[in-house]
Amino acid sequence: MVDEISEECGVIGIWGHEHASRIAAMGLFAMQHRGQEASGIAATDGREVRLVRQMGLVARLTEYCAEHGELPGHAAIGHVRYSTAGGSALINAQPFLIRHKRGPLAIGHNGNLINAKALRHQMEEMGHIFQSTSDTEAILHLVARHPSEDIDEAVRASLAKVHGSYCVVMLAKDRMFVGRDPMGIRPLCLGRLEKAWVVASESCAFDLVGATYVRDIEPGELLVIDEKGTRSLRIAESTKRAHCIFEFVYFSRPDSLIFGHSCDKIRRRLGKQLATECPAEADVVIGVPDSSNTAALGFSHKSGIRFEIGLLRNHYVGRTFIDPTQAGREYKVKLKFNPIPGVLKGRRVVLVDDSIVRGTTLRSLCRMVREAGASEIHVRISSPPVRHPCFYGMDFPTETELLASNMSVEDMRKYLGVDSLGYLSIDGMVNTARELEGQFCTGCFSGCYPDEELNKPERNQTALPL
Ligand code: SF4
Repeated sequence: MVDEISEECGVIGIWGHEHASRIAAMGLFAMQHRGQEASGIAATDGREVRLVRQMGLVARLTEYCAEHGELPGHAAIGHVRYSTAGGSALINAQPFLIRHKRGPLAIGHNGNLINAKALRHQMEEMGHIFQSTSDTEAILHLVARHPSEDIDEAVRASLAKVHGSYCVVMLAKDRMFVGRDPMGIRPLCLGRLEKAWVVASESCAFDLVGATYVRDIEPGELLVIDEKGTRSLRIAESTKRAHCIFEFVYFSRPDSLIFGHSCDKIRRRLGKQLATECPAEADVVIGVPDSSNTAALGFSHKSGIRFEIGLLRNHYVGRTFIDPTQAGREYKVKLKFNPIPGVLKGRRVVLVDDSIVRGTTLRSLCRMVREAGASEIHVRISSPPVRHPCFYGMDFPTETELLASNMSVEDMRKYLGVDSLGYLSIDGMVNTARELEGQFCTGCFSGCYPDEELNKPERNQTALPL
């Protein structure tokens, strides 16, 4: 994917380590790809929950901690944010920290609550005051207003009221909560670092901090960790699984275990299946770096066509103002990518990308590959056409902006200016992860979402009664 869609968020939690906040920051570094807009950590020493949040990359957070000192405590939660719900401002950066009748409570959330608007509206009518524009704050309000004295029950019952996708880490003075929605839409795994417990959106965070993967947090599970040990509670029955298949296609790092399976292995299989379904007569296979290289390797392996690095990506380009004209967009692509003429000149090239969203960037990239001397360009996409929005936390443009919503494959080929264009089928994509058969969300490809409400024409975002 050439920079047309942004990841959602990443969460981490550590319980039982003398440098919990430092470990949290390291884990956030590993998950930086899931959100670059802001990051934060909350930590408890058993008496107080403290919070630090910064806009920008995790490095800014660690610089702040180096200057002001590590947050003290044996437990911490952390978050990297990309703004899927709510605007871009420090007030929307997570974790959020509130003080309510049971003491301080911090939360970090990955996902998107489809009934957050309705919940918020109901609570605002009752006089609740919200500080941020993020949907996550609704969870804290539900916990704060719950009548039970037992905070475990208040958190469990509150999570049972929200719909959509959520992986949450919550921190009170004396315990940590780890919850996952009943359909398990986003990944969340549990690991061990000596005697400490670690949870993270992706297991690549475990590798960096030296933790060992234990298991996934179960869909519908609320894990409570405190000095007595761990307790697993049920938020709701998990009658249907709907893991986001886009995590394998693009979002997650290939070195992560996602939904208990190697992302690298499944992404290679996507490339192999693509070569089976959409073969091409060509001299070289290249991937759009970095996210498509693994699928390109799979395509190369299956087709027998040599894989080469034909495009280099500049990793140091930050946010840059680019004017929205075609010339401006092409300049942006040039800032990020550079073709290698020695690999491309006079060659018939298979260019593998993981998905097409608006298509404007890929179009500019194809033109660059042509100008570098490729004699033919065969674009192969290791997922099906993205025709529908995501309601579960991915920042897709509206349907009218999605290229595949508005054009046939042949029209897209002409628009990209390439010799052929081939997409992986939905069945082909789903079958590459046979171990999880029948357990995927494919909403943005198929238009069929796991929440029935979203399949109705009016897309009624209901709220449960408070
Ligand atoms: S709609 Fe697409 S991106 Fe969103 S959760 Fe489903 S598969 Fe993932």
